[in-house]
Amino acid sequence: MKDKKSALHISEGTENPGTFDPKLLQKFKRKKHSVEEYVEGIMGGDRILLSQAITLIESSKEEHQAAAEQIVAACLEQPHNSIRIGITGSPGVGKSTFIESFGKLLIEKGLKVAVLAIDPSSQLTHGSILGDKTRMQDLSVHPSAFVRPSPAGDSLGGVARKTRETIFLCEAAGFDVIIIETVGVGQSETAVHSMVDFFLLLLLPNAGDELQGIKRGVVEMADLIAVNKSDGAAMSQAKLAKAQYQNALHLFPPKAGGWIATAELCSGLSAMGIDLIWEKIGEFKSSMQANGHWQQHRAEQSKYWMHESIMQHLKDLFYHHPAVLDKMQAIEQAVEEGKISSFKAAKILLDTFLNYEL
Ligand code: GDP
Repeated sequence: MKDKKSALHISEGTENPGTFDPKLLQKFKRKKHSVEEYVEGIMGGDRILLSQAITLIESSKEEHQAAAEQIVAACLEQPHNSIRIGITGSPGVGKSTFIESFGKLLIEKGLKVAVLAIDPSSQLTHGSILGDKTRMQDLSVHPSAFVRPSPAGDSLGGVARKTRETIFLCEAAGFDVIIIETVGVGQSETAVHSMVDFFLLLLLPNAGDELQGIKRGVVEMADLIAVNKSDGAAMSQAKLAKAQYQNALHLFPPKAGGWIATAELCSGLSAMGIDLIWEKIGEFKSSMQANGHWQQHRAEQSKYWMHESIMQHLKDLFYHHPAVLDKMQAIEQAVEEGKISSFKAAKILLDTFLNYEL
């Protein structure tokens, strides 16, 4: 028996609580919903059903995928007037702080904001650059916002496809602004660029570091460069950086649709310049919608994703094919030992796949 003075002592006469009512327990167990229930729930703004439907998209189980496909198809039919914004930048540039400020500003304007993430690090290292800390604390609990971390997956293509489908669900759920965040290292910017209307690149005021390891191609994709952390003592350096980034942008040919990318100052921490960035995005939307580029860009993206889906599907079929699997290990070993060339090996496996009769 514990010492009575201890906080852990049991008071005399305290009754044991009864066991939990099994019927009640059943009620709390996750209910299976029909596709119609999911779609209705999503359209009605039910966040639990929205989250559960996204989990179906992210699942690799066949029955989940079949349901997810139908939910996505139904959501695609819903009219919406959303804008999809990609935000990228190196770790530590201030993405989550920026999105927190930006999201709050949009909510003040009466808009609903969804934040999705693509984290390439989770495929490479099975760790995560974006997800390790608690991010966007206010936004993630705000009733007008929906924050979803990056799905896990073994290929960037697969993760990106899931995120793209999640966009459609968020749009059907009435979110006006969909932010896709990614970390500026690797291929994920290209994936994000292929699913957003507007691409925002966050950079730091120390422009001397030659675009901070950000690849030229990423700068070329940017519709706007935001020199973030333009506050306090960094202000004069930030102004210089803005001019340098502006010059860097001039080196690229004009963007499709006639949009001229600019560099702007901002601070996610003090919310300085955030309003101007939203104004710029508004200008972009209205001029691109007026000249038809908006619709054309989305149509091209759909075409791109059709090809991506075909490639993904063919790859899956090939790598899961029983006859291919039978031979794979031996052929791989032969290539490693230099007994056959990689081209010959590929041909043998492809022929096995193409000529196999069930
Ligand atoms: P992320 O890794 O790109 O998401 O960056 P975070 O938003 O987590 O910010 C990284 C660090 O920079 C944190 O210590 C932030 O407090 C700080 N930070 C973020 N935004 C600003 C800003 O606008 N100004 C200043 N001075 N610091 C900032």
